[in-house]
Amino acid sequence: MVDLKSQYEKIKPAIDKAIIGVVESSQYINGPEVKSFQQEMENYLGVKHVIPCANGTDALQISMMALGLKPGDEVITPSYTYIATTEVIGLLRLKPVFVDCESDTFNISPEAIEKAITPKTKAIVPVHLYGQSCDMDAIMKIAKKHSLFVIEDNAQAIGCDYSFADGTTAKTGTIGDVGCTSFFPSKNLGCYGDGGAICTNNDDLANQIRMVANHGQSKRYYHDLVGCNSRLDSIQAAILRIKLRELDRYIENRNNAAAFYDDAFADIPELTVPYRSAQSKHVFHQYTLQLADGINRDDLVEYLGKKDIPAMIYYPVPAHKQKMFDHLDVTCADMSITDWLTTRVFSLPMHTELTNQQLKYITESVKEFIRK
Ligand SMILES: *Cc1c(COP(=O)(O)O)cnc(C)c1O
Repeated sequence: MVDLKSQYEKIKPAIDKAIIGVVESSQYINGPEVKSFQQEMENYLGVKHVIPCANGTDALQISMMALGLKPGDEVITPSYTYIATTEVIGLLRLKPVFVDCESDTFNISPEAIEKAITPKTKAIVPVHLYGQSCDMDAIMKIAKKHSLFVIEDNAQAIGCDYSFADGTTAKTGTIGDVGCTSFFPSKNLGCYGDGGAICTNNDDLANQIRMVANHGQSKRYYHDLVGCNSRLDSIQAAILRIKLRELDRYIENRNNAAAFYDDAFADIPELTVPYRSAQSKHVFHQYTLQLADGINRDDLVEYLGKKDIPAMIYYPVPAHKQKMFDHLDVTCADMSITDWLTTRVFSLPMHTELTNQQLKYITESVKEFIRK
């Protein structure tokens, strides 16, 4: 699904030098590399504060803690997402309120959000799934109307530009009260281990986030609240500084691969290629197709597997059907699109190093199966 080895080969001298530089400096935690990465990331995203942390799941958890969400508060979230988004809501004893997604973008439906709001609702967590922005105009409007926090899960869409109805643009993750991202190796901006970051334009919130991520500490050995310990290693920061410079080129490579797939499948009615929202760029964390009824998805994945083509299903079980949420009453909302999608989607290899030869082999193989 990803080819991190070929990607590394192309930037090897710079990466090796950066890693050795940190080792020789012996500033492994909170060293100058972390500070520099933080500033470069702020510039790239056009946001006031970037607070690096240990991973994307921590970024979500710390954000919810820093916003002061309390047990029992309701948090509206898509069910069709990676489990981390909803898991931290459960971990903090908040109540996840799952809503359906849009059938074209697969992103959270603003109409469904509006229907799910109660007096206990405190926040919305839009997830920019597969690399395309949610309808942030609509979501910010709903949030403003009902005084709700917006916590963007930007783990799959770093570098994505969103165009507002008024013509202005912003990077995803910088639009809501706070944005969370992950530097897991296979993410669009991945390090060589675990990493994550939180963004905000709010100075007070940034201080609160820093405090929560650092044992609730206001000054050394003075702990004002129960926080956690979540840091980005200096070695990972040094790697990320190099890869951040490549990010726009990586996004272009992903878009080129997506365009190849689109062309190859244009005349196959059994396949629906990813929808492109007019308001959002697509940074193609995943290239996810919908398969028409009547074609067996498991057989297709197995067929491709035999030809050494890894196809994946993101995600086979939506959050509202996971055992971890069995105790919650989540049967009230209409989840028909989510339920349908989880049975029909599949994702093809998507990364920065796909060659035309590989793309040709993959698309021919998919077509072969469908025409059988
Ligand atoms: C990867 C991912 C996360 C979690 O990131 P980690 O760094 O693995 O903790 C959260 N949300 C979404 C949508 C993701 O894809």
